[in-house]
Formats: sequence, structure tokens, C-alpha cells
Amino acid sequence: MGQGLLSRIAATVGTPVYVYDADVIRRQYAALSAALAGVPHRVHYSVKANASLAVLRLLRGLGAAADIVSGGELARVLAAGFRGADIVFSGVGKTERELTAALAAGVGLVNLESDGEFELLRRLARGRPSPAAVGIRVNPDVTTETHPYTQTGRAGMKFGVPMDQVPALARRIAAERALVLVSVGMHIGSQIADPTPYREGAARLQELVAALRGDGINTLTSVDVGGGLGISYGCGEGMEVTRFASAVAPLARATGLPLLVEPGRFLVGNAGYLLTRVLYRKHSGGGRFVITDAGMNDLLRPSLYQAYHEITVVDAAEEAGRAEEAGGRTVASAPSASSAPVDVVGPNCESGDFLALDRALPGAGPGALLAVLGVGAYGFGMSFQYNSRPRAAEVLVDGGRYAVIRERETADDLMRGERVDPDWRDA
Ligand SMILES: *Cc1c(COP(=O)(O)O)cnc(C)c1O
Repeated sequence: MGQGLLSRIAATVGTPVYVYDADVIRRQYAALSAALAGVPHRVHYSVKANASLAVLRLLRGLGAAADIVSGGELARVLAAGFRGADIVFSGVGKTERELTAALAAGVGLVNLESDGEFELLRRLARGRPSPAAVGIRVNPDVTTETHPYTQTGRAGMKFGVPMDQVPALARRIAAERALVLVSVGMHIGSQIADPTPYREGAARLQELVAALRGDGINTLTSVDVGGGLGISYGCGEGMEVTRFASAVAPLARATGLPLLVEPGRFLVGNAGYLLTRVLYRKHSGGGRFVITDAGMNDLLRPSLYQAYHEITVVDAAEEAGRAEEAGGRTVASAPSASSAPVDVVGPNCESGDFLALDRALPGAGPGALLAVLGVGAYGFGMSFQYNSRPRAAEVLVDGGRYAVIRERETADDLMRGERVDPDWRDA
């Protein structure tokens, strides 16, 4: 995206602001669709990566269906115009209220993750006019080389039903007239660049489908290979979609069943920029800090996962590098000092509040405009209001146009629903 447009958005909407490029989302969707063109498939966009209504509407327009993990996401996708039949409901801890709402909305597939959830859904589905379509999320016990917090497909984790327990659960579902087992699936993690675990997991799903059919279960209409496709964050590799497609296509061919894929990050990650203004520069005990108006509450990934995001200087400050504060003194720094590595830190009262460590950012003096790249997925969605900081605005860019798709929060938004004088009730 052009620097001129980013500067204009920062000047008119203010900072911090998330900016998404519609063309990047279209390009990613097209690349995945093209790679999977050889097998019947449906792309269910994983809403938690970026749940903004305008982004959902854009993806729906491209033909995407949706993958949700909460009742809040259900409300969002319905508001964005998705039909119930287009929705897969995943997640390890669905509540009775959420499952009731999903049944009422006619959700196309509820992926069960435990016996307890099966029992709850069976009770809720009884008495409905038609059986509720369910799948089983299997834990295929495959290892992925990603951050421990983004692994989900190994034995001993909270996600999915262990392989050896799936046939018994499938038989219980088959025996229940209020439910119909239409899918088995996996979701093995996130930010995965290597197709191998997909190939291994797909092979296990293939054996499982054969075993279920051997048990007389002939109601399957899809196999779900989940999401998790990695992207390049400027260092490190992303998933090559053609290799992903080669890893999972044999599952569709061998079973004769269409694939469901649930990408989140892959579709939106590299479409996003976080624009932030430099407030101050500071030297302290050997540390060199660039203090920005965005912090961990706006973008948590660096603090939570030590995630790397590239940062570029969109507009260098006029005064860049001229005056820097050092332990209360103002010192004139040589040009070389301003290209020495810095930590880019936020205003939150936490030492773990940073956007980047040890980066050369010449020109990042007070007033400079920075862009944090690759923040379209798990950026705004993971932002929060700690330190009573209103959440950022969001902007969508489409060609030469841009629009605010979420207004910056205000102090009133922060206090909504609170009572300064509690409305006491007798216990
Ligand atoms: C989070 C999630 C996804 C998407 O993961 P990405 O890494 O963003 O592709 C897909 N399916 C399920 C069940 C998820 O929980």
C-alpha cells in the first residue's frame, strides 16, 4: 500500500489505527481457491483472525463460508449476511446458550470436541424438526513446528477428541436421531509453514473415514482439514498453498468427500497495517526506546508470542535524531545514533509492552509515523482496553478509496454498562 495513502489515513483518522487492504485479501483468497481447484472444497474463513463486519462482508462476497468459535462470532457473521448453512461452529468450550443460538440459526455444522458436548447438544436438538448436523473434531496427534501456544493437534492438548475415542463417539451420534454425523475434521495449529503435518493428519482422517464406513456410518458429507496455514512476516517462510493443496487433496480423492478448509491468518494477515505515531525517544541505562502511541493492548502478538512484525517508517519526523532525552538530559545525537537499534515500546504500564525489540529504525523520532506490518490477523481482534485505553479505529482500503469500518472508541465506550453508584439488591 502506498505511503501517501497511509499518511493521509493517519492524518484524517488519527493513530493508532488498523488499515486493511481489500486487494490483498482478494489475492490470498484467489490463490487458495486456485490451489484447491482440483478437488471439491469449501473455504470457511476463520472469523477470529479478523472479525470486523466489513472484512466479513468482503470475504462473503468472494464466496467464503465461515468458521466461528463463539456466540459473539455467530452474531457477527449473521450480521454480515452469512446464512446459517454456511457456518461451521468449532471450539472446545461451547456453552448451552451458544449451542442453542447455533441450532436456532440453522448452523450447517457443529464440530463436537467432547462426550459432554455431545450429550448437551443431543438434549438441545431433541424435539427439533430435523436432525442437527454435527462433526467430530479429531486430535490426530501430529506435531507442528510452531510456538507452543499455537499448537493444537498433539495428543495431550485440550483440543479435539483423541483418535481412539472417535469410533465410539461416532456410534453414539449415529444412534441418536436428533443428530446426524456429517463430518470428521482436524485443526492442528496455526502459523504452520510445513505441509507434512497436514499430510500426516489427512492420512489419519482417511483411515478414520474408512473405519467409520466399516462400522456402517454412511452419513459423512465432508472432511474438515482446519486452518493454520502460515504466512511470511518478513522473516521466515509462509505456507506455499500448492504444497498445502497437495498434502490434503488425496484425502478428498480417497474418500470421495469434499474438503472444508478453515484459514484465518492466511487470508487476512498480510492485508493489515497498524499505524502508530512516535511520541518520544529515550535512552535509559543502555536501552534505547522509541515510545509509540500503540502498545500491547493494541497489538498483543509481540508480547504474547514474541512474534516478529516488520516495522517501517512511513513519515520520518522532521526533527528525527536531533534531540534525544537521556536520563533527564537532552543530548544532541549524531546521525549514527538514530540508526542504532531501538526497542519500540508502548505506553502501557508493563515492562512486557513492546511492538519490536532491537530494530534499526532511522528517522523514528518524535512525530514520525510508523507502520507495523502483517497485523491483519489476530491484531485488532486480540486488542483490549487495559490501562483504560480505547481500542483503535479500523479502516478498509479498496483501490484508491478508504473507509472507516470501526470508529475509534471513546471514554464513554470504556465505561459502558458500568455503575458508579451500584444498584444494590438484597441477597
Ligand atoms: C483459529 C482456528 C482456525 C484458523 O487458524 P489460522 O491459523 O488463523 O488459519 C481454524 N479452525 C479452527 C477450529 C480454529 O480454532
